[in-house]
Amino acid sequence: MHCRKCRLWRGAKHAVPGEGPKDTNVMLVGQNPGEEEDKIGRPFVGRAGKFLNEILAENGLNRQQLFVTNIVKHKTPNNRKPWTDEVEACLPYLLAQLRQINPKLVVLMGEVAWQTPRKEGVTYFETYHPAAAMRFPKAEGKFRRDFEKIKTLMQDSR
Ligand code: URA
Repeated sequence: MHCRKCRLWRGAKHAVPGEGPKDTNVMLVGQNPGEEEDKIGRPFVGRAGKFLNEILAENGLNRQQLFVTNIVKHKTPNNRKPWTDEVEACLPYLLAQLRQINPKLVVLMGEVAWQTPRKEGVTYFETYHPAAAMRFPKAEGKFRRDFEKIKTLMQDSR
């Protein structure tokens, strides 16, 4: 991925397109890769990713079985929120992934990911971003309860 559709490629070592099986029914969408993700080109491998893995594991969910990606595929300067034009420039990649993978359940983590356009026949679940859940106890409680619900939805989407 050598995308130059917005300014973000200039500050990035790697694009982080996402990872997971193509035949999964469940997709997790975050905001944008951070420093750790940028180093190796894989999503959610830093602190927020470790926390996410823990929450998944606590609910008996195996990350290997989910497709994990972000709405924006390059890191942002100082991990700032991606700007609207960056989200718009990057969206075609997420939409192509959604078309290809065709998940039944899409978990949108954080308000930037909540901007993902919706399609009929797909269940979208909006929750906090794991980094927000790590920072704010109230958000953490809601995030944990949300993943209990997501677990049930995942069982239904098999
Ligand atoms: N935060 C995100 O939104 N995505 C990542 O891949 C890592 C941290």
